[in-house]
Amino acid sequence: MYERRLSLNSSALLVAKGGSDVRVVFLGGLGEIGRNCACLEVEGRIIVIDVGLMFPEPDMPGVDLVLPDLTYLRENADRVDGIVLTHGHEDHIGGLSYLLRDRSAPIYGAALTVGLAANRVREAGLFNKAQFIEVADGERITIGPCDVEFIPVTHSVPSAFAIAFHTPQGVVLHSGDFKIDLAPVDGRRTDLARIGEIVQTEGIRLLLADSTNAEEAGFTPSETTVGETLRRVFLMHPEQRLIVACFASHLHRIQQIVDAAVLSGRRIATLGRSMKNNVELARRLGILTVPHGVLIDITEIDDVSDSELCILSTGSQGEPMAAMSLMASGQSKWIDLGPGDVVILSAHPIPGNEWSVGRVIDELHRRGAEVIHSAHEDVHVSGHARRGELSILLSVAKPDCFVPVHGEYRHLLHHAQLAESMGVAPSKIVLAEDGDIVNLNDAGIRKDGTVPAGYLYVDGAASDIDHGILRDRKVLASEGMVMVVASVDIHDREIAAGPVILTRGWVGSGDETLLSVEAAESVAIALKQALSDGTHDVEGLNRVARKALGRFVGTRMRQKPMIVPVIVSV
Ligand SMILES: [Zn+2]
Ligand SMILES: [Zn+2]
Repeated sequence: MYERRLSLNSSALLVAKGGSDVRVVFLGGLGEIGRNCACLEVEGRIIVIDVGLMFPEPDMPGVDLVLPDLTYLRENADRVDGIVLTHGHEDHIGGLSYLLRDRSAPIYGAALTVGLAANRVREAGLFNKAQFIEVADGERITIGPCDVEFIPVTHSVPSAFAIAFHTPQGVVLHSGDFKIDLAPVDGRRTDLARIGEIVQTEGIRLLLADSTNAEEAGFTPSETTVGETLRRVFLMHPEQRLIVACFASHLHRIQQIVDAAVLSGRRIATLGRSMKNNVELARRLGILTVPHGVLIDITEIDDVSDSELCILSTGSQGEPMAAMSLMASGQSKWIDLGPGDVVILSAHPIPGNEWSVGRVIDELHRRGAEVIHSAHEDVHVSGHARRGELSILLSVAKPDCFVPVHGEYRHLLHHAQLAESMGVAPSKIVLAEDGDIVNLNDAGIRKDGTVPAGYLYVDGAASDIDHGILRDRKVLASEGMVMVVASVDIHDREIAAGPVILTRGWVGSGDETLLSVEAAESVAIALKQALSDGTHDVEGLNRVARKALGRFVGTRMRQKPMIVPVIVSV
């Protein structure tokens, strides 16, 4: 369901201090990279800023993805007037389909952002529950009691926004993810002029800004520098088949790959579902320009010679089921990689993916392909502002108050220190984390309580894997399981059968049989003692068995496997 909003263009709402309190509730993204989600509360009404997901960390076995804890939004659903999306990355929109399962509100964003989000929501079968509203660059609309203004910023996906909320406590500016690219591929620069204009008319009361690269000195290079490198790499390999992988949402990168391919007389085929979908969507929206006849279907690549072919692939992050990993392991239905092929990984591994990306690069080398990645050519630049750009935003926005957002703790801390060095009063800088409520009123800014904001783990279709399950999985993965099975006759106070020891993934001293016999014996002694002491419930006997077996394995083997007692009464 799409709806086009007329621009209200209401004149600047000049509100002096003296208005009601404004709260920001952080549900994710402060203390980790990903699952960005915050609530802006004005006069008791809520605007949600992004609902992102996070990819699991290595210590989350079997977890597919991680969401913000949505309890607060569920409990306050009647107060939510809208959801605003800063841009179309998964860590900002990937949680929407989970939120929409049991509640709905209008979702505002740029045409591309809304298009990317709608694709995901449609896949989840929830498109009928979602109301998407497209907003244009610079558009200002009213959501609940708040005027909301969408300000263009450059980032590693087109059509990204910073969002200015005109509130009774002055303007709250959320930077979204941004960089200051002075030569962006589409010419759409971060609109510092508009931010300066707001400073002149209303001032910026509170700035919330992206901290991802707050530890990096200097300036992130322009995206167009990658285009130059790509063109050079293409020209250096005129005879070979070229396979380029990047994020499917990085349409500026894709545009530059397309341009390099066209320049060297190549046709382009996409590989991977999201690449195909996004290229289609972006062409339809006029964000991506591909000359007529250049795009061919993957089924047609055998009709094109190697020197005239460029494959645009997903899987730059080493995701096991993505096109690049399948090629690397020889399981691709379409591409049989070998000597003579050139693979360009036009991306940098996001934190946590380094190992999988390294393994894919290794396998590609093993197949004889030439691999070009960011370690030896500048085939990637970041989409996030480094310290130089963060300083520029701080100096243009001149915020009264500042809260660093989007980053691990050290990124937030460095950004807070930078703000202080740029002249923001220390008493007006709040270092908030997930779950913190920040209150802004005439007296200033301060933390004011917390809400639940733990990780919500998703495994397959189940979306509330609790910490106990994860703890069990970690124990099973690292120590295995030792199980004891016995049946007891509670009436006669004796063991009827067993105990028998069963193990999975557990390693003993080398003589597991002997060890099992000793372990069983120690459980038998404990059970007999408990029975003669008058323990006559199965639960109590299970506890006794667990303790005895745990003690035996712990003292004999110095191990802590999962202990599973199964004592039944006959
Ligand atoms: Zn982000
Ligand atoms: Zn982003």
